[in-house]
Amino acid sequence: MTFEGAPDPESELAPPSRAYVRVLDWVESEMRAGRLRIGDQLPGERALAEEHGISRASVRDAIRTLEVMGLVRTATGSGPRAGAVLISRPAKGISNMLRLHVASSGLLVEDIVEVRALLETWAATVVDLDLWADGGQEILHEAADLLETMEDVSLSRDEFQALDTRFHVLLAKLAGNAVLDAVMASLKDAVGDVVSEAVPTEEEWKPLATVLRHQHQGIFDAVSGREHHKAAHLLREHIEWFYANTTAKRPETPEHPPRLGA
Ligand SMILES: [Zn+2]
Repeated sequence: MTFEGAPDPESELAPPSRAYVRVLDWVESEMRAGRLRIGDQLPGERALAEEHGISRASVRDAIRTLEVMGLVRTATGSGPRAGAVLISRPAKGISNMLRLHVASSGLLVEDIVEVRALLETWAATVVDLDLWADGGQEILHEAADLLETMEDVSLSRDEFQALDTRFHVLLAKLAGNAVLDAVMASLKDAVGDVVSEAVPTEEEWKPLATVLRHQHQGIFDAVSGREHHKAAHLLREHIEWFYANTTAKRPETPEHPPRLGA
């Protein structure tokens, strides 16, 4: 695969191959061949520009693109640790893209919620606590700690939601699928702001939080009690209830069009 993608029907109008894509393609092929690994430093700007016959500005475009994708971390300065280092944070990359596409309404929140419900309920049915040995119990302990922290009624809506996200991401982790972990973290992140906007006041938030606490406990008990199908059912109910109750409160005025599609 290359970052050029399929031929664009309007390619005659588009500028010729963007120079920075050469660096993206090079990084991809070097990683595939094992010549570049996570933690490695990329060659300097000047070296990359000369190697690929492009300007240093184009090299900077490539590095910025990789940064947004969660594949590169840049450090300023001139020491040995300066420059671009390869990292692997797929959730960051996917989440950056999803957030913008949700903002543009290219992706509807209700569709994201549906995908989330599918993934989480699937994850609940394939959890095998025995496969995890002590690791599974550690994850459950961590999830139990989160539930305890969420009992604090003085938590703000944003604080509660951050913990709520971690709870769901942790449970999904028990399915042992790294792609699922990355997508889960991104999906929750991508719709977080929309939910925050939809429940504007803390007074409206408090009664919702009480129900959420109860639902979380039920889900946790089912997962730790190995009741897979019950856990999946409760998760779907929880996710759908939450979005039905948060999006329905959004006033449909010209200033607030019904962009949630609910
Ligand atoms: Zn939740």
